[in-house]
Amino acid sequence: MRHANVIVVGGGPAGASAARRLKQGGADVLVLDKERFPRPKLCAGWVTPEVIREVDLDPATYPHRFLSFRRLHFHFKGLHLPVPCVQHSIRRLEFDAWLLERSGAEVLQHTVRDIQRDGAQYVIDRQFRCDYLVGAGGTACPVHRNLFRSALPRVRGLQTVTLELEFGYEWQDPDCHLWFFEDGLPGYSWYVPKARGWLNIGVGGMAQRLKQRDEDIWLHWQRFAQRLRRRLDVQVPLEPTGYSYYVRGAADAARLDNAFLAGDAVGLATRDLCEGIGPAIRSGLRAADSILHAAPYELADVTGASLGGGWISRMVDWGFTRGAGKPARRSPKKPLTVNSSAGA
Ligand SMILES: Cc1cc2nc3c(=O)[nH]c(=O)nc-3n(C[C@H](O)[C@H](O)[C@H](O)COP(=O)(O)OP(=O)(O)OC[C@H]3O[C@@H](n4cnc5c(N)ncnc54)[C@H](O)[C@@H]3O)c2cc1C
Repeated sequence: MRHANVIVVGGGPAGASAARRLKQGGADVLVLDKERFPRPKLCAGWVTPEVIREVDLDPATYPHRFLSFRRLHFHFKGLHLPVPCVQHSIRRLEFDAWLLERSGAEVLQHTVRDIQRDGAQYVIDRQFRCDYLVGAGGTACPVHRNLFRSALPRVRGLQTVTLELEFGYEWQDPDCHLWFFEDGLPGYSWYVPKARGWLNIGVGGMAQRLKQRDEDIWLHWQRFAQRLRRRLDVQVPLEPTGYSYYVRGAADAARLDNAFLAGDAVGLATRDLCEGIGPAIRSGLRAADSILHAAPYELADVTGASLGGGWISRMVDWGFTRGAGKPARRSPKKPLTVNSSAGA
């Protein structure tokens, strides 16, 4: 049986960030992911300047597609608000593989199914053994399923459903557009251009509220695709793909003994824009620090609010979740600014 001091399940932004910090701290770390990287990941790929700093990404030397927006266009019931900003887009297929490779950790392709306690250690699928376990396997993380299901139950009112497409496209409009609450969607749709002729479009909404309206996300996708054609002359070439994840609720039970959860495995995306990459990275780094320095695993401030935490954030949060499963502590307020944090 293979032993590692730390096993990280999932090599997305949460797992790769944890693995990198652990390697830098001298830990013996092994990453298990069911996919071989580079692997596709459904995500608009909007990243904030904070994320760029947190992962030490230098746009001048980053070897993949990287685009900076000078404006974010918010659309709300016919109102159009163009907001000057500095925000960025990447392709997750490229970004995640880059992050994971740069972690320096050993990565094995393996689908984790079963996790057992054996004294103070964890045994995975009778093949791997570790002293510390980091669950960074996204929404369906097997560490959550095996160890945290009752300590950290999923809150249905915080579940998002999404449909999106990323495709080669010579876009004309280089800015990011977000349309909120169109046709009663409890969420928003987006247009996020990528460097060198790629485009990401999608719709996302809160699952429970859609169900209450007797609607599904496909209906909103069809309307959005039609509108996109008229508004921005975008021809939508294919059927979209779906994924579901959870926005931030109470996350105080994200550590049990020497097992940690990070990123979407906890449900940490912001409640106003469903931004999950930054919280995934921050929680992965915190899990690593807890292991390296026997520090508490504290996630109260890893999420924040993409739109600043003031009344606009609260209004959008209410429009999406109707106050379901409030986080344990509110994020600190800051003035509305899209210079540091906002997007799709
Ligand atoms: C359509 C859509 C658009 C989004 N747009 C944005 C955006 O623009 N900006 C933003 O900040 N956030 C966005 N998000 C949210 C963001 O994508 C997630 O919050 C983020 O990817 C979470 O990172 P993670 O590392 O926790 O999980 P993931 O990136 O999901 O990584 C989990 C990894 O675990 C692996 N895994 C899963 N199960 C197993 C298993 N059993 N065994 C081994 N490995 C396993 C997977 O293969 C995967 O590599 C979007 C999400 C969606 C669905």
